[in-house]
Amino acid sequence: MQVPLLRLQCGVNSYDWGKVGQESTAAKYAATTAAPDFAIEAEKPYAELWMGTHPSLPSKDVETQRTLLDLVQDNQALLSTQINERFGGRLPFLFKVLSIRKALSIQAHPNKKLAEQLHARDSKNYPDDNHKPEMTIAITPFEGVCGFRPLAEITHFLQAVKPLRNLVGDKAASAFEQIVKGNEDSEDSTVIQTNKEALRSLFTCLMESSPENIESATSDLLSIAESSPDSFAILPGEKETNPSNPSEIAALVTRLNGQFPNDIGLFVFFFLNFVKLQPGEAMFLKADDIHAYISGDIIECMASSDNVVRAGFTPKFKDVDTLTQMLTYSYAPIEEQKLQATDYPYAVLNATAYSSASSAMLYDPPIDEFSVVKTDLNRKGAKVTFDPIDGPSIIICTRGQGKITVGNKTEEVKEGYVFFVGATAECIIEDTASGEDEDDVFTTYKAFCELPGEENAPDHQ
Ligand SMILES: [Zn+2]
Repeated sequence: MQVPLLRLQCGVNSYDWGKVGQESTAAKYAATTAAPDFAIEAEKPYAELWMGTHPSLPSKDVETQRTLLDLVQDNQALLSTQINERFGGRLPFLFKVLSIRKALSIQAHPNKKLAEQLHARDSKNYPDDNHKPEMTIAITPFEGVCGFRPLAEITHFLQAVKPLRNLVGDKAASAFEQIVKGNEDSEDSTVIQTNKEALRSLFTCLMESSPENIESATSDLLSIAESSPDSFAILPGEKETNPSNPSEIAALVTRLNGQFPNDIGLFVFFFLNFVKLQPGEAMFLKADDIHAYISGDIIECMASSDNVVRAGFTPKFKDVDTLTQMLTYSYAPIEEQKLQATDYPYAVLNATAYSSASSAMLYDPPIDEFSVVKTDLNRKGAKVTFDPIDGPSIIICTRGQGKITVGNKTEEVKEGYVFFVGATAECIIEDTASGEDEDDVFTTYKAFCELPGEENAPDHQ
């Protein structure tokens, strides 16, 4: 049987929010294996590199030019029997590189049940009936918003940011404050439920603002952000809830309005956690979690689906009713949204890898469709051997150079190269840096799916 190692040719799409020309990591990676007619255009935005079997932008085997979807449907052993059956002959996940120049729409992805209902009701705007949990790993410094802020922070902004209070109205703001006051950190489930209902009413009230009111509140907000950035959103006195970075928030408000003038998203920002990720840091978004990406280059892995419910920072279809009803209104500090990587136990490092502090770290969200392992090999000759798993993998290199071996097939690996590795294959990755540079680091990300409760089957094909 053929060795299950394929180098992939992956497409990049041109959404408006993507980084432009050579600035776009997604475009540069796409160019390393592009179709002959692809050239990066200097003025064009490039947003997302797609690695997988999704029919909207399917990856191809470089050698035969057949799509990966075609190949895994032809040879079901590539996915494994269980995965093939459960996910209907497709890869369970879609792996991406995103290069973000301007904010993506504020959005949430429906859970499975809601996805089925939305798809049945409106298949044009909701093309899939599947859920779409997502994981983000930063490859350059990243900014975004994710989940509702702790209630004390929302109350703070209602008092410290007058245009926000004017927009939701003093009545709605006061009603919210009265309900949550003194109960912000309660762990009593009845109190939490009452808090969430209060947050839902307030947030719905905000989302139903008229365009005229949004426009006048925006102009008030901008004049404060521009005239006194150092005291932006600050209340007098040493308030515990005063933001530590007022001028950063003021600058962000100005930047976001430049991208989406007079958009409700600017005010939604005060309800949501502002998150910054350093390279290697990750966050996981459950179904129905509200979020938006603002800037940076990231690796993203998601269940293979295209369902998005949008509510701001977008010229696309907004479904405010669905959004305000579907959200969980869970509120928590951003640290609780981040996903900590742990040592990956099913990879063996050689001596050179150990002595150079190389690592294989696992990002394992609480879902079946995917996990990701990040491998940093820090010196020439450092090598990692992945145990065979009973499921498919896709591997992308984001830094350095090396080689990948499956069975008797070895391929060169450079930044931007993408490979598919079939189920039950042992896979070896080795750093082949020149050894003369200070920076010999060879970094890869491997997305994979292995269903729980199965034995690994190390029968090499
Ligand atoms: Zn999303």
